[in-house]
Amino acid sequence: MPKKGIQEIQASAAEFSQRKPYPDIGFFQSLTKGQDPSAILICCSDSRIVPNLITESRPGELFVIRNAGNIIPSFNPHTIMPDSMIASIEYAITVLEIQEIIVCGHSNCGAMTSLVNPDSIPSLPVASKWLKYYAAEALENAKKKHHDHPDGSDELLIKSTIEKNVLLQIEHLKTHPVVQEAIAAGKLKIHAWVYDVGTRVMQEYSEEKEQFVPLKNDKVNTASDDLKEPSRDETMTPFNLTLCQIL
Ligand SMILES: [Zn+2]
Repeated sequence: MPKKGIQEIQASAAEFSQRKPYPDIGFFQSLTKGQDPSAILICCSDSRIVPNLITESRPGELFVIRNAGNIIPSFNPHTIMPDSMIASIEYAITVLEIQEIIVCGHSNCGAMTSLVNPDSIPSLPVASKWLKYYAAEALENAKKKHHDHPDGSDELLIKSTIEKNVLLQIEHLKTHPVVQEAIAAGKLKIHAWVYDVGTRVMQEYSEEKEQFVPLKNDKVNTASDDLKEPSRDETMTPFNLTLCQIL
């Protein structure tokens, strides 16, 4: 499928407000009252990751924070300039009172690949320093695991680095006072996910199995759920159908 150029993207953005028929126009009007997201999703800036599409969620349901490599700087009481990632997390926990954080890595991640193979990308003085500073430990952890399987390829090392990086960034996340306080108060749960861009399979980290396993669908429809309004499935389906049509 040919990719859209900037002019087509501009045209689509202009057309978006006029697209008819569009599902549940009143829903968009309701968004003007404020936001009440269910989760913070921290993921890579990679254009192949479309958070609302891969979680089948609507505008207002995810508070998304992104950067190259889904990096979360660890707490530094002496820092002169606070980080935008942490500022966003602080706002989401304190003001929006979000109680779930998902840290989501992905397959074929250029940032993680560049850690394993520095020659795979041109010289990037800022990005390489950023990744080395906050994610080099993920590569070291992956190499330790790789050491047990010396026949593995670079591909396996990259896959392992992607997974270890998600776990490392969660450790960084837990160093921040605002996160520690929320966890201590029983008001915060943290989830480790990795998304495969080719198969669309989402995996989560299992503490019990000490590895990433396919995410299970634990959603249980009960009689009381059926009575709730509005029906989430009914309002979601057209939105995601529209997204898929656009894609
Ligand atoms: Zn990436």
